Amino acid sequence: LVNYYQPKVSVATGAVIGVETLVRWQHVTDGLVFPNQFITVAESNGLINELTRLVLLNAFTQAKLWQQSGMELRVAVNVSMDNLASLDFQDLVVDLATQVGISPHKIVLEVTESQLMRDMRVSLEILTRLRLKRFHLSIDDFGTGHSSLAQLRDIPFDELKIDQGFVHQAWRDDTLRVIYDASLALAKQLNMETVAEGVEDRQDWDFLRQTGCDLAQGNFISKPLLASEFEDWIKYWQRRVKTDLIVDQID
Ligand code: C2E
Ligand code: CA
Ligand code: CA
Repeated sequence: LVNYYQPKVSVATGAVIGVETLVRWQHVTDGLVFPNQFITVAESNGLINELTRLVLLNAFTQAKLWQQSGMELRVAVNVSMDNLASLDFQDLVVDLATQVGISPHKIVLEVTESQLMRDMRVSLEILTRLRLKRFHLSIDDFGTGHSSLAQLRDIPFDELKIDQGFVHQAWRDDTLRVIYDASLALAKQLNMETVAEGVEDRQDWDFLRQTGCDLAQGNFISKPLLASEFEDWIKYWQRRVKTDLIVDQID
């Protein structure tokens, strides 16, 4: 398993605020295999806890390395609903963070309802406890069937990610735009940070700049990168922000 990292940047300033960890499987003969091809398999074979443990350990270790080299990045990890089936998961996350020496407020746990939840109470309990320990919680794919308003009612999320389906080309599609605006307004009223996913081109970026969304993520900013590619990308990105992307920079 290899962790890739995709940047999340501030829409207002271009500052790199964090990364989302996206796992790939380096297969001997097939090359890089994408998570859509193995996450559900891992879930249905009881392997998802072990997979998430490895992804978390890699991500925390990397976050620590970045911190030691002077980069303050929040690192997000995708958590499967299946991980939230047993209270052990909470201890696992807390123990790993302690072991690596990374503080919980630098960690974001992104949650989607990948499948129907069997015992909602246990999941709520785990998420609430992690939140009390100061881990950040993010509701992923907002607006799709993978996330629901009921989750917003029940779980104290810090961040809402507007699904890419409502971001890319929202600038020219009235229906997308209405859903995008409504999601943003909802998040603001619930005091959550907003992330627009699937920012694919300049028009998407310019659209976000007009709407007051906090963070942006997508291939226009950067595709998911290996940790080793990250420092070079930051330099490139900072130059691009100054010369091209943020024209009306204050100070
Ligand atoms: P996600 O959490 O919604 O992650 C965003 C997906 O969109 C990623 O696909 C990313 O590579 C892709 N993406 C990024 N920028 C753009 C863009 O500009 N346009 C478009 N169309 N797509 C973009 P990826 O890496 O294939 O991951 C797919 C899904 O697999 C993720 O969706 C997430 O739900 C799941 N996943 C990834 N890593 C993990 C993991 O470690 N654990 C678990 N449980 N699930 C994971
Ligand atoms: Ca995610
Ligand atoms: Ca998503």
